[in-house]
Amino acid sequence: MKKSYSIRSKLIYLDHAATTSVLPEVLKAMNPYFIKHFGNPSEPHQWGQQARLAVDQARGKVAAFLGAKTSEILFTSGATEAINLAHKGLVEARHKRQQDRIPHIITSSIEHKAVIETCKHLERLKLAEVTYLSVDKDGLVKIKNIEKTIRPETVLVSVMYVNNEVGTIQPIKEIGKLIKEINVSRLKSHLLPIYFHTDATQAIQYLDCRISELGVDLLSLSGHKFYAPKGVGVLYFKKGLSLIRQQDGGEQEYRLRAGTENVPYIVGLGKAIELVQQNKNLSAKNIEKLRDKLIEKVLKIPRVKLVGDFKKNAPHIATFLVEGVEGEAMILLLSEEGIASSSGSACTSGLLEPSHVLLAMGYKSEEAHGSLRFSLGKDNTEEEIDYVLKVLPGIIQRLRRMAPKL
Ligand SMILES: *Cc1c(COP(=O)(O)O)cnc(C)c1O
Repeated sequence: MKKSYSIRSKLIYLDHAATTSVLPEVLKAMNPYFIKHFGNPSEPHQWGQQARLAVDQARGKVAAFLGAKTSEILFTSGATEAINLAHKGLVEARHKRQQDRIPHIITSSIEHKAVIETCKHLERLKLAEVTYLSVDKDGLVKIKNIEKTIRPETVLVSVMYVNNEVGTIQPIKEIGKLIKEINVSRLKSHLLPIYFHTDATQAIQYLDCRISELGVDLLSLSGHKFYAPKGVGVLYFKKGLSLIRQQDGGEQEYRLRAGTENVPYIVGLGKAIELVQQNKNLSAKNIEKLRDKLIEKVLKIPRVKLVGDFKKNAPHIATFLVEGVEGEAMILLLSEEGIASSSGSACTSGLLEPSHVLLAMGYKSEEAHGSLRFSLGKDNTEEEIDYVLKVLPGIIQRLRRMAPKL
């Protein structure tokens, strides 16, 4: 599809679930590490040690945020890499210990592609068997279903904290508790423990992410979803857990992730997570208020519905299904009005593929094609929301008039 964008002077960015800008404070913290303190952290001279210190300090900030030990924090190139390492690394380690049985993973059918495709890869290579849990109409997994699908060879339960397409919050704490209880009885019957991973990428700005509260053994996150740069992320992994590295080479990151550290980006992530910790509830309230107004007014447009139960969802996401309109078309017309939004359906090779998340929630593919996601951030204003509300009904009307009557 040919895309043309004419940019209005006032731009309204409502796609924070896709990425955020880098904060000036974050960039400022990063700056010295490009030209001045450019050393390689593995070198013992002062250039290297300065860089090492910066990486360690950033690690300390992430550890403080999660309530973890610094030795449990690994820097990666993003959530995708953290997720790959967690799933593949655990499965490989488990293979070494129970060679007679293929390790089993339980995950949900609404995970980010990073989880789903990693699981599919492990299945294709016959390295793991995977159960994809169904969700209810609001996108929630049922804890009972997790319990029912656990097998002796289960190595990992992986359930995301907040869904990036619809904002559903999963009961991570309850799942964590359940797995702890199950592990106690597994220990008695000489079964290896089950580990619990959560992709917390969309949660970190708004929800409690302290490890002790969640009861997780592994947690992934990505810098660019909370105002750090793209290309840097974190894997938290509980001490003592056996994980085999998936990238071989040097001995960086506790020998779990080879390759010279991306020092300036790691510094940026450290600064950004510190800012999240300082301001956590400040912007969330405002974002929620704006999102609720957006939902209330958009639902007045005929034949538009909201996905999920927004009262129980993360504050920054609102996803609508607009009958008789393609999501992609709305995104393009909104973009011409200077508004950034997103749709679950990705236009790949000219074929519109409906979102796997919406399908898993029970929506039909025609419904899913009309999805429109707005995701808010800390700088959005009421005027911006009002502007969206002014132009959106016209855009939907225009597209409906153009659509062929079937
Ligand atoms: C963005 C995102 C990812 C992937 O992050 P990358 O930085 O692209 O690796 C994974 N999971 C969720 C929920 C996300 O929103």
